[in-house]
Amino acid sequence: MNDPIAPLRHFVVQATQLAGREMGEAQRRAALRPLLAQLIADDTWLPDWAAQPHPEHYQQYLLHCDPLERFSVVSFVWGPGQRTPVHDHTVWGLIGMLRGAETGQRYARNALGTVVPQGAPQRLERGEIEAVSPSIGDIHVVANALADRASISIHVYGANIGAVARHVYEPGTDRVKDFVSGYACAQVPNLWDRSRAVRASLGGARP
Ligand code: FE
Repeated sequence: MNDPIAPLRHFVVQATQLAGREMGEAQRRAALRPLLAQLIADDTWLPDWAAQPHPEHYQQYLLHCDPLERFSVVSFVWGPGQRTPVHDHTVWGLIGMLRGAETGQRYARNALGTVVPQGAPQRLERGEIEAVSPSIGDIHVVANALADRASISIHVYGANIGAVARHVYEPGTDRVKDFVSGYACAQVPNLWDRSRAVRASLGGARP
């Protein structure tokens, strides 16, 4: 059956069901993790327009936002050599590697309020998932680990992340700037044209 967006629809339906259930943040992240792992196990569902790198900076394509803004799903596309500034999220997030690889470096504020690296850089390989949150460490920088091609990760956040007021940091200082990321696209994928499956159930009849 030709329904390439079905894996994303399946994820959105399950994430919406979870969003309606009372649970703590850690439990919610734990519940979403296997769903995201399933979503990124195959990359054929991602529309081509949401996989396009920009020559100068990384792209954030909105794939779905919950109508109550309880969560959003975003495709991050990194061209060769591209990286984020040091930034935070202010809400929980899960990052699943769909194509290529990323390197991440966590940061934290020290006693003087200076933002300094925390731990060693981590490499996220295809199929792997990491988490961010104010409760487990929310400041980091992410870069494409590959010098010769784009990498793509699928992110799930506990808000409409493109419209969240957050922060960019200048490492080695206590300087902070306000930051609202927005999105690189004016449309989202159509998850809801299930007509092929319904027609098939009718024996392929078309009006
Ligand atoms: Fe981030």
